[in-house]
Amino acid sequence: MNYLITGGAGFIGSHLVEKLITRGDQVVILDDLSTGNAKNLGTVEGKVTLHKCNILDRSIIEKLVAESDYVVHLAAALGVFNIVNKPLESLKTNLQGSEIVLEACDKYRKPVLIASTSEIYGKNDKVPLNEEDDRIIGHPLKSRWSYSEAKAVDESLAYFYYLENKLPISIVRFFNTVGPRQVGHYGMVVPRFVNAALRHEPLSVYGSGDQIRCFCHVDDAVRALLLVIDSEKAIGEVFNVGNNQQISIMELAKKVIELTGSTSAIEKMAYDKAYPSGFEDMQRRVPDISKIEQVLGWKPEIN
Ligand code: NAD
Repeated sequence: MNYLITGGAGFIGSHLVEKLITRGDQVVILDDLSTGNAKNLGTVEGKVTLHKCNILDRSIIEKLVAESDYVVHLAAALGVFNIVNKPLESLKTNLQGSEIVLEACDKYRKPVLIASTSEIYGKNDKVPLNEEDDRIIGHPLKSRWSYSEAKAVDESLAYFYYLENKLPISIVRFFNTVGPRQVGHYGMVVPRFVNAALRHEPLSVYGSGDQIRCFCHVDDAVRALLLVIDSEKAIGEVFNVGNNQQISIMELAKKVIELTGSTSAIEKMAYDKAYPSGFEDMQRRVPDISKIEQVLGWKPEIN
């Protein structure tokens, strides 16, 4: 199969690309290398084609979609710092980018997987969150919510292409995913903590540190992606993909210090120092992953 992976030089994308190449597929990548990096593709160098290009470049997207058998759309502006500091560019990438990809997939009748996010649930702190749960989000002028808004519209757009035009689409809602090649400078907590710990610098915990998160290893997440890509049962469906083991951010900081043998201290930082004023955080976010387990037999294997 010929796969087009948008955002394929990024964290999750590069791991997916490696697995596709290992099983004998051909891969073309479109990525502007804004948060991704060609170095992430070091193990597949010479085996993949990388187009350094913006997702908003319609003519190139159309050409690459037409030449592919299956499209995985991962390219997005993400990371809290990016979304809050570059709200306009982020919103355009996440809204218009997906629209262009879906229009091209519809035009050339190519199956497509759309990457969404647990952020679409917003402030809903129900435990655990399942695919049918409501969105509870802040008002539209707060840039913090624009990622959630764009990804939710992306989901609707993809789903309505499926309903009205019978376009084969699938949607994956990633919860926090972690592993090699994730970088910390856009706000991702695990690499940020690990970097600080390895340098024996203080780990900054935002707020009280009592907020609960769940972290899924990228190898587990990519295994879920491949099951979704390969299964007819996933067409027209949305799946939560995440690990449901819970940990507080304070416990996480302690664990990172312990595992790296670091002498780092832990410092609490008020939210208004870490982020622009008015930032809202979720106290707890835990995925219900029973749907993907029942339909595709997936569950995380790495704690
Ligand atoms: P990432 O930043 O490593 O990957 C995104 C890729 O998209 C990068 O390689 C980046 O260079 C590329 N990109 C960004 N803007 C672009 C543009 N305008 N044109 C072309 N390419 C562009 O992040 P990731 O964690 O690998 O995320 C992959 C997908 O998974 C994204 O759609 C993201 O929203 C989703 N997701 C990730 C997580 C997570 O915890 N990592 C959680 C929820 C959802």
